[in-house]
Amino acid sequence: MKIFKDKHILQKEILKTKGTSFVPTMGGLHKGHISLIKQSKKSKFKTLVSIFVNPKQFNKKSDFRSYPRNTKKDIKLLKKLKIDYLYIPTFKDIYGFRPKNKVFLDKSSKKLCGKFRKGHFKGVLDVVNRFIEIIKPKYIYLGKKDYQQLYLIKKHIEKQKIKSKVIECKTIRENNGIACSSRNFNLNKNQMKIASNIYNYLSNLKKKIKKNYNLFKIDKIKKDLISLGANKIDYLENYNIKSFKKIKKPNQKFNLFFAYYIKKTRLIDNI
Ligand code: AMP
Repeated sequence: MKIFKDKHILQKEILKTKGTSFVPTMGGLHKGHISLIKQSKKSKFKTLVSIFVNPKQFNKKSDFRSYPRNTKKDIKLLKKLKIDYLYIPTFKDIYGFRPKNKVFLDKSSKKLCGKFRKGHFKGVLDVVNRFIEIIKPKYIYLGKKDYQQLYLIKKHIEKQKIKSKVIECKTIRENNGIACSSRNFNLNKNQMKIASNIYNYLSNLKKKIKKNYNLFKIDKIKKDLISLGANKIDYLENYNIKSFKKIKKPNQKFNLFFAYYIKKTRLIDNI
């Protein structure tokens, strides 16, 4: 595994290859990331993982500061996984140039997380656009756990006619049901239990709603989540994942999208 901090040196290396399969991350690696990396390794291209905690996508400084970082442990894990390249850029390496493509922000960026985290998706797309320009990957591996992010990145790539193909990867979960997330590192045992109870409650509820849509009473569900130990709920909505729109008729296929806090930790998922 070769480690790069400078985009020019990285680009020189990539030029020697047939292309790259790219797995962007913010580090704090877990089973979800590992699954993306393993899929990438199956491709015919070199696997390139990046670790960059992008300050521009955090709407609160405190959230950026408390975001779990463990680069040493991550490097050890990536070596074990035998990836080809690891890119750990500095802020300047990413933001010290003017990208050719403008960021395309689809209007659905205003929904769900976009409503509650002002500027978040603009920050995400800005950094992804820059990474794409530096790396020009053949494939980009993204997780469905962050489905709105995945959807918006796909829209940007489509609109700007970028030649990278997005590979959508399924959500990997802990044994207790909750989606693996770097933010879980900030939860203590009791808080993990709360998150797991909330997941179980919502996945059972989804099964019931499928049979009887009248059970989808948002205010009642929010109250139940609070009594299960959530401290704040940002949203809870049923979206069709193809159209990425709120479902209108009860018989439409949907995923239940939700975001909530346990103390200061914000968790998102869709089931
Ligand atoms: P992050 O480091 O949180 O920015 O995530 C990097 C990539 O890993 C994104 O494409 C995420 O959607 C994906 N990812 C994060 N958690 C999971 C998970 N539990 N299952 C699958 N993919 C995930």
